[in-house]
Amino acid sequence: MNALQTPRILDSPSSSKTPAKVLPMPRGVRPEPGFATRAVHAGREDFARLGVHAPPLDLSTTYPLHDLDEAIHSFDDMAAGAKPQGNAIYSRLHNPTVGRFEEALAQLENAEASVAFASGMAALTALVLALCQGDKKHVVAVRPLYGGSDHLLSSDLLGTTTEFVEPNGIAAAVRADTAMVLIETPGNPTVHLVDIAAVVAQAGAVPVVVDSTFATPYLQQPLKLGASYVLHSATKFLGGHGDVLAGVVATSESRARALRQVRILTGAVLHPLAGYLLHRGLPTLAARVSYAQEGAQFLAEALLRHPKVRRVEYPGLPGGDPLGLLGRQMRGPGAVLAFEVTSGFEGARRLLAHLEWLTPAVSLGAADSLIQHPAGLTHRLVDPAARAAQGITEGLLRVSVGLEDPRDLWADLEAALAKA
Ligand SMILES: *Cc1c(COP(=O)(O)O)cnc(C)c1O
Repeated sequence: MNALQTPRILDSPSSSKTPAKVLPMPRGVRPEPGFATRAVHAGREDFARLGVHAPPLDLSTTYPLHDLDEAIHSFDDMAAGAKPQGNAIYSRLHNPTVGRFEEALAQLENAEASVAFASGMAALTALVLALCQGDKKHVVAVRPLYGGSDHLLSSDLLGTTTEFVEPNGIAAAVRADTAMVLIETPGNPTVHLVDIAAVVAQAGAVPVVVDSTFATPYLQQPLKLGASYVLHSATKFLGGHGDVLAGVVATSESRARALRQVRILTGAVLHPLAGYLLHRGLPTLAARVSYAQEGAQFLAEALLRHPKVRRVEYPGLPGGDPLGLLGRQMRGPGAVLAFEVTSGFEGARRLLAHLEWLTPAVSLGAADSLIQHPAGLTHRLVDPAARAAQGITEGLLRVSVGLEDPRDLWADLEAALAKA
């Protein structure tokens, strides 16, 4: 377990297994800042000028408008989906604290802009509303998706029609009226990886949305691979402490404008305190994900050897990354894994009732480890046949590895497995 004592917060995608090489730099020249450095400083560029060391939290719902001409100008900007140059007018239109988080997250995703929402589902809804307009209401999606996303699309609630295909079936499914292609990688809950560049190539001119919630911008940056949008349930690793519900989409400024327009009209805004907490979480993102990932690798290997475990899903295991995406698309395998107990639903139920450190709860990416039963909870509303086809069996449990000592987590799982 020595590796756990030295978190490897390195920037090169292939560096998760190789030690850092310090290259000689010409004197007086700073290298391009690494991810961890940017995550600590993003959205804080004006602090010295403001004379503050923590972001101001602006809870105003409305703003004094003594200069009507300036107010009208600002209103027109925001009605067109732009960020306001001056007055924010009303906090459903814009909030400066949320704006800081959006600026920081955009930097970390190598995006021109990001747009934050009240939840991950609100963000997905805004994307669908912004993209699926007029006679373009066809969506192509790859399973598995988060259960809520799967249900939103398969229920046709937003007037769309969704065709679920295998990753290599996207080109054949795209039609003249296809408005978006949606993938999730790693996918929830089986942590299978999808080749983003290959999906983008198949989608042609249709924008590709990547739900990158499990990866975070620390592990992968889909826009660099040609995706048009990155979606996060910021409730998870970005918030990182289980106390913020939020969603965010990173994209180009022109695409962000349409999303801001939808947000203004539907009102699915992020509360400024939530924006503050998300911004507060970013400086520790690399350290948290990197440490939790080491724990996940350790637990995945230990689970694999246990006689009551039928299978373990984790990209960091032998055979867990059949497309060779680790190091190429994703810096490391992440901090979520899934495993199936041999004793099915009853065994899973018994295991969940005998845990001390792991919290039996849905959601993921918190400081404490969370474990949940996808077939019974997060993916309950997914069509049962589709669930079975994706390997979401009655004995499957999903684990979000937190920041505890991994040896304690394994001792906890081992004791609970004895009851399973
Ligand atoms: C949780 C989750 C969502 C939904 O986000 P909320 O913030 O709960 O609305 C979407 N996608 C993935 C992959 C998730 O894990």
